[in-house]
Formats: sequence, C-alpha cells, structure tokens
Amino acid sequence: MKLTPVAAPDHEEVLRVEDPSVGLVGFIAIHSTALGPAAGGLRMRPYASEAEAIEDVLRLSRGMTFKNAAAGLPLGGGKAVIIGNPAVEKPTGLLEIFGLAIQTLTGRYWTAEDMGMTPDDMALVAHGTRFVAGRVDGAYASGDPSPVTARGIFNAIRVTARHRFGSADLEGRRVAVQGVGHVGLHLCALLSDAGADLIVADSDAAAAEAAKAAFGAEVVAPEAILAAEADILAPCAVGAVLNETTIPRLRVSAVAGGANNQLASAADGKRLQMRGILYAPDFVANAGGIINVATEILKVRDRDRFVAKGLAAAEETLDRIFTRAAEAGVSPNEVAEEIVAHRIAEKAA
Ligand code: NAD
Repeated sequence: MKLTPVAAPDHEEVLRVEDPSVGLVGFIAIHSTALGPAAGGLRMRPYASEAEAIEDVLRLSRGMTFKNAAAGLPLGGGKAVIIGNPAVEKPTGLLEIFGLAIQTLTGRYWTAEDMGMTPDDMALVAHGTRFVAGRVDGAYASGDPSPVTARGIFNAIRVTARHRFGSADLEGRRVAVQGVGHVGLHLCALLSDAGADLIVADSDAAAAEAAKAAFGAEVVAPEAILAAEADILAPCAVGAVLNETTIPRLRVSAVAGGANNQLASAADGKRLQMRGILYAPDFVANAGGIINVATEILKVRDRDRFVAKGLAAAEETLDRIFTRAAEAGVSPNEVAEEIVAHRIAEKAA
C-alpha cells in the first residue's frame, strides 16, 4: 500500500491511497481537526477520474466540518472515497488495506458507512483499523444512523413549518419527499404519523411503491418531484438538487430534507431566499446521523440521552438561524455558515 500526500490548500491533510495488488485507488481527506478528530463516512463510487474523486472527497470533508460544528460536536470534518463500482464484488483485501491506510492516521480521522458501503464492508475495513464507527456490534456500537437522521429532519421540518406557516403542526400539510431509501422511508413514517400528506419519488420504482403501500403516498416520476406542488420539499436522495435550473420551477414554500450538499452553490441559497422559499440548511437538518455515530467515537455511555440532547440542540440552532436570517434579511445558509465559522474561531482562540 502506498500513501501519497495530495496538495489541497483548504484542508489539513489529504492522502492518496494506492495498492495495485487489489486495484485500490482512493483518497482520505481531513478538512479540519480544530474541534476534534475528523469524522465522516467512506464512499465508493465509479468516479470517471481521480480528479472527480478528489473533488468529491474535498467537498464532502468540508461539509462534515460544517455539520459537526453546527451540531456542537467535538469532532472535525473528514471523508474518504474509493474509486470503484460498489455493485460488483469488491476485490478480496481491498477494504482491509484501505482500513490500514486509515489506521496510519492514528485517530485523526474516523470513518463510517456511506454510499456504496454495507455493514459487512465496514466490518472488513475494521480489520485494518479501529477507527470505524456506525458498527453493528461491539462496544459502543451505534448501528444504522438513518432512523436518527430521519428524526432530526422531521424536527427540522416542524421548525421550518413554524417559521414559514406560523404553526409546526403538520396535519394536512403536503410534503414532497425525493428519495425514499433509508432516510426518506423513515421520514415518511414520521410525517405520516403526524398527519402529513405525502408525495414521493424514487429512481427505484419498488422503493416508491413501498412508500405508497405503507403510507398511502402519492407517487410521481423522479423527474417530476422537484416541480411537485406541495407545502414543503424534503430532498432525501442526491446532492446539488437545488440549482439555477430547479429553483425557478419549485412549487413549495419551504425546503427541509436530509440529502447532503443540496445547494449546487452558495448562490442557490440566495436564489431560494429571493423566491421566498425558506430553506433549512442541510448540514443542520440532517445532523441526527452524525450525532448518533458520535456516541461511538466519543464512547458515550447513555446514548439515548446524548442523542436526545443533540437533536434538541440542532432544533434550537435551526430556530435561531431562521430568526437571525429573517432579522438580517439574509439567507438561512449564510447564517448557518457564520455560526459554524464562529464556533471554530472560538475554539481556536
Ligand atoms: P439510500 O441510498 O438508502 O436512499 C437514497 C434513495 O434515493 C434510494 O432509494 C435511491 O433509489 C433514491 N434516488 C437516488 N437518486 C434519485 C433521484 N435522482 N431521484 C429520486 N430518487 C433517487 O441513502 P440514505 O442513507 O437514505 O441517504 C439519503 C441522503 O441523505 C444522501 O444524500 C445521504 O448522503 C444523506 N444522509 C444520510 C444519512 C444517513 O443516516 N443515512 C445521514 C445524513 C445524510
């Protein structure tokens, strides 16, 4: 296994990981350890080039700094990616070797499951390193974070509804959910219990049908969901769905969902504001998962209490963001980024 530093001015450390014996090429990016060890998932995707993989890992690791800081966790931001198709069997030894690469950072970076990884895959990574969280078993194992992520998004939707419509009550509110996978489906259950009417789409038709069967959700085609008429849109699939093409077509009053990096660029936060659409910054709304994972990294004894406190704090933070944004006439995203910058600067002082 060969580790080569990659220059990235905004990041503390980026490593290229290579092992030709198993066809491994991947990257580990540590954006910031100002607040604590960097934490963020490991993703496997068939990136078209190394440049594309580097761009993704840098963007995602920076996003984790924001998410962890916004959640008030003593964790920094990091992420790892492996170039490859997760749908085909991973070569024997590849994940263990990637684990060894993570181990060389001696805890400056903690990994967890992300897109393209399964719990079994993460168990193989854990053969190479002890810095793996979100495990299914073992001391402090925190398991699948998606139910907690969904709970946090549900709370964020209620706060958003209160600021946008004057009431957090979701009875009779129409919520459009893009992507009903792990997070989206749990979210649908919570929304349905609260009396919301659901409209869903998923590129996997069976997933959408499952939401219809379980919650009576209306199903629309994946290309129609972003223009569906609803009170609130909850993106729970891929990133960059809020952009200069989609924002003019939105027919909702607010957006609050779980997908990472929903805004294609910072300008899109402003675009939403100009259209009067209230946007709950994703890294605040979807922090439930990392709060749950943090219990494992930080070896928290009373996980339920820690998670409940963390979710309540995230809700308060979002409330504060909306209030300040309205007072200052700026977008919620700008306020959220300011809060994060302030928390990091405070720690550094
Ligand atoms: P998942 O893979 O289980 O579900 C995603 C779903 O979206 C799948 O059913 C997929 O078919 C569907 N999908 C993909 N592209 C789509 C498109 N263009 N239109 C409609 N549907 C599409 O993933 P997940 O764990 O539910 O995560 C969803 C999002 O939330 C991701 O952006 C992830 O990064 C983010 N997130 C997840 C967690 C977590 O705890 N799992 C935590 C924080 C953030």
